[in-house]
Formats: sequence, structure tokens, C-alpha cells
Amino acid sequence: MSTSERRPWQTRRHFLLQVLAAAAAGGCGNGVGPGDEGDESSGDGSSGDAPTGDAPTSGETGTTDATTGSPEPVLPSDPFTLGIASGDPLPDSVILWTRLALDPTIAGGGLPDEVLSVFWEIATDEAFTVCVLSGFADADPKFAHSLHIDAQGLLPDTWYFYRFKIGEWTSPVGRTRTLPAADSSPERLRFATVCCQDYTDGYYTGYPHLVQEDIDLVAFLGDYIYENAATGPVRSHANPEPTTLDEYRVRHALYKGDADLRAAHAKCPWVMIWDDHEVENDYAGDISQDDAPKDAWLARRAAAYQAYYEHMPLRLPPPEGPDYKIYRAMKWGDLAEFWLLDTRQYRSDQNCNDEPGAGCEGWETYDGTLLGDEQEQWLKDGMRASVATWKLITQQIVFSTVSFGGSLVNFDQWDGYPLARQRILDFIHDEQLANVVVISGDLHVGGLGDLAAIASDTDSPTIAAEIVTTSLTSEGNIPAETVEALIVQVPRIKYFNAHSRGYVSHEITPALYTVRCVIMATVFEPMADATVEAEFFIDAGTPGFRPQP
Ligand code: FE
Ligand code: CA
Repeated sequence: MSTSERRPWQTRRHFLLQVLAAAAAGGCGNGVGPGDEGDESSGDGSSGDAPTGDAPTSGETGTTDATTGSPEPVLPSDPFTLGIASGDPLPDSVILWTRLALDPTIAGGGLPDEVLSVFWEIATDEAFTVCVLSGFADADPKFAHSLHIDAQGLLPDTWYFYRFKIGEWTSPVGRTRTLPAADSSPERLRFATVCCQDYTDGYYTGYPHLVQEDIDLVAFLGDYIYENAATGPVRSHANPEPTTLDEYRVRHALYKGDADLRAAHAKCPWVMIWDDHEVENDYAGDISQDDAPKDAWLARRAAAYQAYYEHMPLRLPPPEGPDYKIYRAMKWGDLAEFWLLDTRQYRSDQNCNDEPGAGCEGWETYDGTLLGDEQEQWLKDGMRASVATWKLITQQIVFSTVSFGGSLVNFDQWDGYPLARQRILDFIHDEQLANVVVISGDLHVGGLGDLAAIASDTDSPTIAAEIVTTSLTSEGNIPAETVEALIVQVPRIKYFNAHSRGYVSHEITPALYTVRCVIMATVFEPMADATVEAEFFIDAGTPGFRPQP
């Protein structure tokens, strides 16, 4: 077959071109193709070269993979349309993510049904003059050509830059960092929490502001995608509600098509948990919202979980089937520890037919589980053993009592699982755990409140605080509600905003937790002004928020 007859992605040898490209790029990774000195690494977590602090000296060139013999692919257009991301850092490693797709609107991304070898590199400078690690990894069509590189052997508490290359194409550059050493005593942690980014309800006007902040991490609290088929005020979901793997892939790709979202991923590592809309609104464990047959529902859940894995920078093996353990912990030296919970997969069905409103009979004593026994025990064991100053229960749904004595109960949040909630509160109280903060989202409201030792008794002592992150876009711009004026009169609620979209910025030091609730002027325009509407403080050793002057 002559050159002119090649299909666009047909493989070929072209190492000379790549050597020239690598030289022009400043000589970090040589990027000359698989088979050089760089270790072969795969998307399932093996690592690449040990860091040396010097540019790699690998002078061997070659264009075929020594392991598989697959030659370099030629791609007719940029395959990095979905951007890059990093996540789940450790003191010596971080997960680097990308997914190749020429055309994100089709399930296979417009790529051939074959494994493609991708070069990756990580450096201490944005120009990649000081490369510390590089390698090749296989992008497997089985996982939609996604990559999850475990870049091991990095220095603690250090910022890095990373990128990917395949053929003539180079990805955008991402910035990432490692955690402080486990036995260190960091002076500070800054991070942002974000959740609920319905693509159709608004533009991601928060992200251009978030990327200007001096943050170490983004913690994403769930509802990364929405599964509905809606056309909203600003954009359309374009496709029917997904139920199959291919359909969920297309939905995720639609979201990653947003340049502001991609830029936010490039800013710093993300730690992520899911909520309901990554699969289906208000699902509960193995029960679908609309009571779909169990087999069909679990097949759908498996498809959604796999697509989630394929599109997020997770330090997790790929899921096999409908069960997927994603809850995990993260330590910021001895300053803070996060418990990242899954409040969806193991929960009992919502009480009272999940119909928000007045409580049904016996709702106050409903003994459903939210975390499942295993996760609940893991959380308690972890919190009991933790030496971290700040203990952050990081999850999606609102923990505070906002049921107004049963006159308005949302059975999908902790109010609907009252005994399970009280067990957590009792544990915090009995163990005398200091500086516990519950971080949540879901309700599309911003809120700050103190948590009482007994949820149903507002006179019981404050033992912890809750920070509720408003939605980035979900529900769009809505008028200020009169309910806000009522809710802020509830003694334990310090701040409440049910009409604004935005995110929360957190700054933690050994003595002080500072919360800034950032709200956007609008999400109906691509760009908008941001305002810090509330700034509150928690003093270490004193449960609850410091009274405002
Ligand atoms: Fe939501
Ligand atoms: Ca939700």
C-alpha cells in the first residue's frame, strides 16, 4: 500500500520527525516512540522511569513497542479533545489522566478499535526542560482509550507539570502536585469544593475564577454529569438519557468539551466522589429511581460506573461489573485528613417514597443505612485513628437538620436517614473528636451551619460544623427566595443562599479554618463576576463557626 493510500490512523514509522519535534520541544521526554529506555507503563497503574532530577538521557530511538510490537499510530487530528487531568495525589505520586478522542460526539471517539501507545512526561517546569519522569502507556479501546498513569517516585509537597504525546500531537500542559509527607506538619492547605454542574442549566462561569485562586486541590463532590435529556437555558444535553456504556461515554465527553472545565482540571489535582446523577437521579444502591428491573438497573449502573472511571483521574482499578468501591481517604500531613464517602451505592431505599414534603409516619425512626455497614465502620476506624488536626467528612448530601421539625423533609439526604446520622454524631461526641467538618453539596444551595450533638435537639451542644457547597450551575439563575430569610433565623444556620451558583474556597492552617463562599453574578453568560458573599472562620479547638462580628 502506498503512503497516499493509508487511512489516517494507519500506523507508520516516523522517528526522525519525532526526534526533531522532541528537540524543538526542549528535550524533556524524547517522545521518540515506544521502545526507548522509558519503561512501558500502562493505564492500570504501573509507573515509568524513576525520577532523576535531570533530563532523561535515553538516547535509544525506535518506533516500535518492544513489548507489543505495535508501531506508532498516525492520527489525522488532535486526539486530546477531552483535555488532561490529574488526581488522587500521594506524597510520592499522582494519577495523570487523559482520554484520546478525535470526535468526542461518538462513542469510540472516532479512533480505531486497537490499543494505542501514548507517551507521557512529567517535569518540574512548564517548559519541560527538567523532566523527572516519562514513559509509554497503552490506551485501550476497552476503556475508551483512557489513561490513568500512576506517576510514582515524585517528591512530596512539590508542584509538577505533565503532558501526553502521540504521533505529532501534544496535549495541553497540566499542573499538578504531590501531598506533603505523611509525617510532616504543613502550615497550610487551600482547596476548592465544587459540585452539581448541569451542563444545560448554566455556563461554568465559576471555573475561570477558581483557576485564579492559589489552591492546592479541587474536591469535586458529585453530580459531575447529569443524565437527563434536557435542553436548559443555555445548552442542550443533545442526546437521550444514557443507559449504556457508549451513551454514558458520549455524555461525559460532552461535559469535557467545556474549555473552562478542562482548564480547571489542568490547574491542580482533583479528588472526586460521585452522587446520583453520574448514574440516575436519586437512585439508592441497587434500586433505580423508577424501579427498573434489577438486572437492567445493575447493568446500567455498571455502564455508568465504568464511564465515570474512564473520564476521571481516579487512583482506582477499573470497575468490573456494578460494584465499585470508590470511598477512600487522603491525608495532608498532620494538618487535615479527608474521608471521601460514597453515599449512593450502599444506601437503603429512601423512606416515604422519596417524596419531599411533610414526613410520613415513623420517618424520624427510619433505620435505613446511608453508608452501608462496611463503609461506616471504615469511616469510624479511620477517624478514631487519625492524628490530623482537621477531620473532613467529605461527601455529597446535606448532613444538617433542615427538616423544620418534620414539616419539610428531603428523604434523599441525611434527614431521611435519621438513625444513621445520629450514629455518626454519637461517634464524634463519644470519641471527643475535635475539629470535625462535614463538607457537602447536592441541594443547590450554599450554606454554613453548626452541627448539634443530637440532630433532633437544637439545644444540644455544637460538636462540628458543616459547609454546604452550592451548585456550579444546576438550577441556573433563580430569584432570591423568601425561604432564605426564614432559614437564616434558624440558630444553627450561619449562612444560607438558595439562589446563587458558585463554589467554596477553603483555607486551613493548624489554628484556623477559613471558608469563603464564592457566588457568580450569572451562569447564563459565558463569563461573569464572582463575589465572596460569605467569609466565616472555625477556630481549632472550638466546635462550630466563630460568631461573626
Ligand atoms: Fe445536583
Ligand atoms: Ca445529587
